[in-house]
Amino acid sequence: MPGRPKKDPAKRPSKAEPQSPSPATIENLERKVFDFFTLSQLGKSLISTQDLDDLARIFVASVHETSNASKVALLIYDADISTYKYQFSIGLSEESVKDVFFAEEEGLFWRVLNGGEPFPIRDSAGQYRFPRVVQKFKLDRLDSEIWVPLMVKNLLCGVLTLGKKKDDTPYDDKELSFISQLATQAAVAIDSAILDQQKTRATRALGKKMENLSVLYDVSRAMNFMNDLKKTLLLILDKSRSAVGSQKGSVMLLNKETGELEVTVVRGIDAITERKINDGEMQCTKIKLGEGVAGRVAETGEHIIVDDTQKDKRFKQSAASNVQNMVCLPLVAEGDCIGVMNISNKKGGERFTQDDVNLLLTLAGQVAVTINNANLYHLAITDGLTQLYINRYFRQKLQDEIARSKRYEHPISLIMTDIDHFKKFNDTYGHQQGDAVLAMTAKLFRRVTRETDIACRYGGEEFAIILPETAEDSAAAMAERLRREVEVTEYAGLKGEKLGVTISLGVSTYPQHGTTTEELVEKADIALYASKAGGRNCFHIYDEGMKKDEQRKH
Ligand code: GH3
Ligand code: MG
Ligand code: MG
Repeated sequence: MPGRPKKDPAKRPSKAEPQSPSPATIENLERKVFDFFTLSQLGKSLISTQDLDDLARIFVASVHETSNASKVALLIYDADISTYKYQFSIGLSEESVKDVFFAEEEGLFWRVLNGGEPFPIRDSAGQYRFPRVVQKFKLDRLDSEIWVPLMVKNLLCGVLTLGKKKDDTPYDDKELSFISQLATQAAVAIDSAILDQQKTRATRALGKKMENLSVLYDVSRAMNFMNDLKKTLLLILDKSRSAVGSQKGSVMLLNKETGELEVTVVRGIDAITERKINDGEMQCTKIKLGEGVAGRVAETGEHIIVDDTQKDKRFKQSAASNVQNMVCLPLVAEGDCIGVMNISNKKGGERFTQDDVNLLLTLAGQVAVTINNANLYHLAITDGLTQLYINRYFRQKLQDEIARSKRYEHPISLIMTDIDHFKKFNDTYGHQQGDAVLAMTAKLFRRVTRETDIACRYGGEEFAIILPETAEDSAAAMAERLRREVEVTEYAGLKGEKLGVTISLGVSTYPQHGTTTEELVEKADIALYASKAGGRNCFHIYDEGMKKDEQRKH
């Protein structure tokens, strides 16, 4: 690259022929041409590489050649450690400057740097203007006079430092403005190289994690489809076992009321016991906080690896356990330990490796998030008093189920029900007693309906039950069963007395009574009104003859 044309202070604007350009104008033009040439050369060189080291070399060399500076250094921002680190220099001893860095600082120095304009780092007496920062980071090693901030989109991505000029003259404004232009060009290239570098690093790290991620991907996909917490937990448990090649696994959740860990799902034991435990028909021994391996993990929130359960005193042996080695991991959600995941008996009798544990820790994190999300979701869609789904969820669910019925050409039925004379009941026994009856009725609905049925609190003392894949006659049978169960149930009163209530019901069925949510609700409501009008404590299936204007007002 050509050297910068020297300014001759002796040259003054000439009074020569007005037609021919003055030497000053020529010098100015020369300088502009040179600046333009240098800038475009630098631009070309910078575009040719995305490598940060190459860019730094080209840029520093270009500045060194054109600025007449004796020493030039470049510091670049490292986002990983939030500091500006030495990158490349000319005219300085590499050994003395290679560790130079400075961190983001409060104060004037930082404000001046972020102003984006070149500035002198020393005052006219040669003293450093920001002595505290210079001393703290030993920036005197750069032996600099001028600092040129490298700004991209108002962010400081690096700093160029210039030592004294070779001829010892001060930098003038034009020179600084030119260097500033070089810096602007370089900053853009450097910024893009940094981004590129980060991307490459991220891709490499991603590659390494691919295997882990594919395991996690399956898990999160399953989450979208299954609201059933147990099914999801079993799935993650299976993923965990296969990821580390172990035979058994279980998830234990902490019952906050009793302070005990309860086995929620289990895998890898005999099929009959496994099914019974997972279906909630059989209870495993509960473990107190602090007790055995799981109790300790839940208490401390730290995982435990047991290489040999025979020798490890922390492990509580039991006849049924049949565990040789295990990893027990805490399930931590929002800072709270909500249970543990046990993965045991690595195949081939091998020990669990650190890689196994790392992967299991990630999966345990997923389990915790899953449980937490399920709990939050459950809270959001269920009614506090009755634990039934809320109206908004009911409408969404009914819409989904109708769509499914359309696709598979299955019927679907809806039962709307309302407690008879409930106002009078409240007036007689009090609102609190009314609430208790609502909760008990909801429990009865849950018990009597099938697992696939969806019972909701429609509002007040009204309930709706969605019966997927259920035709009119089966829905009628269910309505009658519900009516009868409520009728014969002796509700335990708050004062120990026995109370009784009755319900009225209405049934509508897709597709004969309607094909939309609104239609099915409307028709079931009309049928319910017919039951009220017909004396209560009975059910009706919707019929064309029932009058629309007889629909009750909610
Ligand atoms: P009908 O047989 O015609 O349904 O008579 P009803 O008295 O049940 O009907 P109405 O709709 O006039 O009154 C419903 C009553 O249900 C009003 C209110 O006192 C009671 N109710 C609604 N929601 C709640 C609740 O959350 N808790 C209690 N305790 N009572 C409720
Ligand atoms: Mg009502
Ligand atoms: Mg009522």
